Amino acid sequence: MGVVVASLAAVFCLTTSSGQVAASGPADRVAVPPQAPPSDSDTATARRWIDRLGRIVPTRFVARASERFLLVSDLHEADAADALQRLERTANAIEGFARELDLPERTQKEDARLVGIAFRERRAFERFASEEDRVDASWMVGYWVPGADRIVFRREGNAVAATRALHMERTGEGAVLASTSEPIAVTVAHEAAHQLLHRLGVQRRGLRSPLAVAEGLAIAFERCAIDGGEPFAIQPEREERVADAIAAGTLPALSALVATPRLLSTDPGAIERFYDASYSLIRHLRTSRFDDFAEYLRLLRDEAATLSGRRNKELFEGCFGPIEKVEQAWHRSVRQSGKRTRPT
Ligand SMILES: [Zn+2]
Repeated sequence: MGVVVASLAAVFCLTTSSGQVAASGPADRVAVPPQAPPSDSDTATARRWIDRLGRIVPTRFVARASERFLLVSDLHEADAADALQRLERTANAIEGFARELDLPERTQKEDARLVGIAFRERRAFERFASEEDRVDASWMVGYWVPGADRIVFRREGNAVAATRALHMERTGEGAVLASTSEPIAVTVAHEAAHQLLHRLGVQRRGLRSPLAVAEGLAIAFERCAIDGGEPFAIQPEREERVADAIAAGTLPALSALVATPRLLSTDPGAIERFYDASYSLIRHLRTSRFDDFAEYLRLLRDEAATLSGRRNKELFEGCFGPIEKVEQAWHRSVRQSGKRTRPT
């Protein structure tokens, strides 16, 4: 994947008192290639979003648009440009994935840009999460809200660069998929992946498709916003934890993973195993059963409105064969990759 530079098509400022929108010129302080001025439709689109968001974000916030995203933030210009670049890279990776699997995008309404809101300060981020999205974000770096279809994140202040995610899904109005303790680039890519996969129809809000598929796929794109990061790259730490859980008999059963639209437990250790297992499984299927995997995602998408736990299992077995056999093959591949990566 080549380096993709997000072109800042337009920058818009929010005025402070009236809530009205004032357009400023393109941001030329950021090192981006020369670009065409924003088209009328870009301008109209951004204005519409700012009208909408102007009511909920602090008035000093600035909106910046790239090809596929609108980022509203109080980030320094270079940080905002960096975040947009990472979002665009993630979008490129997911476009490539959709092509590879022959999954065309669903048709869009007039406004095609995806919206992100970013905060420089942790406290402002947490306040916004609590007041606007009714989310306790004290343990998060970012989240995606399916209903409002926006990602919200903060610039990581405490760079406790844990390289794994602990996530929590809530149901109902305030449903979010969230990231914690992640380097910001990983969080941005993970949450953007949810948003992009949602647009692709692979992930639907409030429906009964398997959470393991949604999370496994989002994790698959986490590294795409980082230089040289490829989708579906092996994550050795996760794979080692999966191997340990298999040995200890604590890995979630495949029959549960493919059926459930939510987490199986609220215990933090179990949640971590759920995410590790989700990614390991998705990576295994995509690597060793590519055509079946593509068919499976198409079916999940086509049947999204009528899925159930039972139907989820039927679809899975229809594509991959008996669950016990798939589970054996998956565990075997984890044990083998463990042998390759661990010193003996
Ligand atoms: Zn997630």
